Amino acid sequence: MSGIVIKSAKEIAGIRKAGRILAQTLKRAAQEVAPRRTTKQIDEVIEDFIRSAGAEPTFKGYRGFPASSCISINEEVIHGIPGDRVLKPGDLVKIDVGVTKDGFIADSAVSIPVGEVTQDVMRLMETTHNALSSAIKEAKTGNRIGDISNTIFEVAQNEGFEVVRDYFGHGTGLSLHEEPNIPNFGPAGVGPLLEQGMTIAIEPMLNLGTGKVKLLDDHWTVVTADAKLSAHFEHTVAVTKNGPEILTLDV
Ligand code: MG
Ligand code: MG
Repeated sequence: MSGIVIKSAKEIAGIRKAGRILAQTLKRAAQEVAPRRTTKQIDEVIEDFIRSAGAEPTFKGYRGFPASSCISINEEVIHGIPGDRVLKPGDLVKIDVGVTKDGFIADSAVSIPVGEVTQDVMRLMETTHNALSSAIKEAKTGNRIGDISNTIFEVAQNEGFEVVRDYFGHGTGLSLHEEPNIPNFGPAGVGPLLEQGMTIAIEPMLNLGTGKVKLLDDHWTVVTADAKLSAHFEHTVAVTKNGPEILTLDV
């Protein structure tokens, strides 16, 4: 028995609608990523954009989270709380947003450099993006969750980067976090079988240094244990009879 929720075509259409608003939101947010901007200012733009589209920011109030987005800078991996931190050239900003539209939920994240970043940071970012793209191709019927996990791990290892092991991708769509967990490491060919109608958030988190992380005193922000940079990309993907479909695109 598994607790994985299989969605109907109609439900997937609802998640796709939320995902489209989310993709547009992230595009709009990216325009705000610039030196001297605070993460709170960016979060306000995100919340306005989502509400103007007739949707709700899924994260706001989720387990008490105070904002509409998670904005994490440099050594912050995920779950950064928007606030007074000011962006400066060379920073790597991760913006993670959930959108709820008519009860359907999509989850997506991007990493965006502020001005010029070092070559190492560029490579970390590109590798994380490649890990996501490669992993999405594995989201097809007949494969297992381990095939997604292993692909992310292999792409990271090939470039000499570590993956974060304490936080996972996950099912999503009707609730923000559903079964199954999708680790960013582990052997291929294991874990739940992928079936038509599953909708999953795949989210590689790759670090320049150690893969180890710790939780800050705010009980939200996850940072790298060695304070080196981390990158994060995420899409919500449906497993369909025609292969994987990314639901968090502006198409
Ligand atoms: Mg997310
Ligand atoms: Mg997620």
